[in-house]
Amino acid sequence: MSRYVFGPVPSRRLGFSLGVDIIPSKYCCYDCIYCQIGKTTNHGIERKSFFDPYAIVSEVIEKVSTSDHIDYITFSGSGEPTLNSDLGLMIDEIKRSVHIPVAVITNGALLSQDDVRKDLLTADVVLPSLDAVSEDIFRYINRPHLQIEIQSIISGLELLRKDYRGQVWLEIMLVKDINDDEEELGKLKEVIDLIHADKVQLNTVTRPPSEEITGRLTREELEKVCRFLGNTCEIISTFDKTPVQHEEQEWSRSVLDILKRRSLSLDDIVKITGVSFYKAKNRLMVMENEGDIKSYHFHDTIYYMIKQ
Ligand code: SF4
Repeated sequence: MSRYVFGPVPSRRLGFSLGVDIIPSKYCCYDCIYCQIGKTTNHGIERKSFFDPYAIVSEVIEKVSTSDHIDYITFSGSGEPTLNSDLGLMIDEIKRSVHIPVAVITNGALLSQDDVRKDLLTADVVLPSLDAVSEDIFRYINRPHLQIEIQSIISGLELLRKDYRGQVWLEIMLVKDINDDEEELGKLKEVIDLIHADKVQLNTVTRPPSEEITGRLTREELEKVCRFLGNTCEIISTFDKTPVQHEEQEWSRSVLDILKRRSLSLDDIVKITGVSFYKAKNRLMVMENEGDIKSYHFHDTIYYMIKQ
């Protein structure tokens, strides 16, 4: 089983994305109410060298050499990737060996730090998130480490745009009745205009979060917000690429590898693995009976998660 690399998984933002997980679960400077990974157990802001960076790079190179199609190599996973102080080294090493664009999904909390922005310079896409501009709403949704303040995140995003020549795709996670009112959206629009992100991507809760206190917006509500935020804004669309076939004996292992990092619906699993709906459902039933995974209903959809 791969230790650091998972997928390729279908990502609504990045196509077939090979995930690189460089953070122990769950080490993050936030503890978002919508987080799918679970409760933050290490609420840290200190950057560390968590693992051997060359072992991670070797695993990525090996996986790339045996995968049919990968659109992006994406640093994401069990926590906030910029907390890994070897991030820049790993991006540089991967780009030296592999000709696939590198993306980094970050909560943006550490972007005001020079060393963090420097580490991101050679990435092809940085995908920071910003869910609120008001300190109280930010603290309610993202539950950051006490030393993190929203103003320093906004300054970090501005500095990133100045230093960095790649693409910046800003994600806003909208949570019903929390950050979707006119006043907060107006403040977010002002910050979007400052940051000049190449894309603003609207998301809402579409997978089971770790806590049942979050609500999702309807498609119509998202479209209204999208029109308000301007022409760089888009709603993250559903995944529609051709599936990749896996060898049968690899199937359960690769699904377990992904479920360790995120929950997936049955449809997601069908799309990732390329097996039929009924075959996937039967195999998942076996895995559930064997106690490896568990299923949840969330807004009429069944999702699967690893059983802790
Ligand atoms: S920033 Fe990401 S990993 Fe951290 S708590 Fe929020 S959703 Fe989870």
